[in-house]
Amino acid sequence: MTVAIVTHPALAAHDTGDHPERAARWERTDARLAALGLPRIEPAPIAADALARVHPVAHGERIKAFCEGGGGRLDDDTVACPASYDVALLSAGAAIAAVDRVATGQDRTAVALCRPPGHHALADQTMGFCFFNNAALAARHAQQAYGLQRVVILDWDLHHGNGTEAIFYDDPSVLYLSTHQHPNWPGSGAPADVGTGLGTGFNVNVQLPIGTGDAGYLHTMQEVFAPVVAAFKPELIIISAGYDAHWRDPLGRMGLTVAGFAALTREAQGWADRLCGGKLVALMEGGYDLEALAASMLATVQVLAGVEVADLLGPSPYHEPKAEVERAIRRTLQAIKPYWPN
Ligand SMILES: [Zn+2]
Repeated sequence: MTVAIVTHPALAAHDTGDHPERAARWERTDARLAALGLPRIEPAPIAADALARVHPVAHGERIKAFCEGGGGRLDDDTVACPASYDVALLSAGAAIAAVDRVATGQDRTAVALCRPPGHHALADQTMGFCFFNNAALAARHAQQAYGLQRVVILDWDLHHGNGTEAIFYDDPSVLYLSTHQHPNWPGSGAPADVGTGLGTGFNVNVQLPIGTGDAGYLHTMQEVFAPVVAAFKPELIIISAGYDAHWRDPLGRMGLTVAGFAALTREAQGWADRLCGGKLVALMEGGYDLEALAASMLATVQVLAGVEVADLLGPSPYHEPKAEVERAIRRTLQAIKPYWPN
């Protein structure tokens, strides 16, 4: 099975010093993926018209001017250097290129090493290390450049993708599915937040308790998400692939392992194979333990490529709170019951 790796050395030029979202994340992950010998695609910066599908022109101009002024803190959490605007355009361009590879049939799946990440970025606001919402831009590109009607965004990052949720909250053409540690920043992502207007029912949040591990995550995917995805009949699946729910991550307290990320990838790939000719794109989001990030993203690519995954980082030290996980799953199933068969 062909997997394209969309990556570019300039993605390391967004210099954030010792911030958790630092250049070494890209360097370590890219080096691990390079060893697989898969086709490597260099993206171009996102075009202005593609960016404008999600972000008002003023949003980009504000970031551009800030970076030209030397950079600093764009908001409480997001750091920019003079090069960051251009790198953010390239990161979004990587998401676009990944969609192009899959939508044109050049590759069955594509994995993009997006950096900076995207899922907290609102249409008109940077947030949580994110400048432009790469997954939202990818979904809109798939719809507007290739005429796709229905796109799934599966967000398994540790954090809730508040930006992605907000962008598609009233939109039934993009089904947003998120698992996130609760409680944690940014605090959004309640099960009752199911969308609004025509988009009601097309936003599915699962707040998982601290310590949720491989079994709980996979159970959530199979019990909550899989039936909804099957009923929705997507033409493309985009994964907001964060790896900060790995047990080693310094920003989280979840218990996923490398083998767990492999299992989640296998599940999503199964949906894509059954429902949309295998069309799947994975975009890097969070993940702040360098080794866990690189090993887990490698596992994602290995699953997509159909090669064996070796879990080098061992089992989680957390004990999964099984009853609490079940309660979290029931809460979401209850919230979405009016809109989806189960
Ligand atoms: Zn995250």
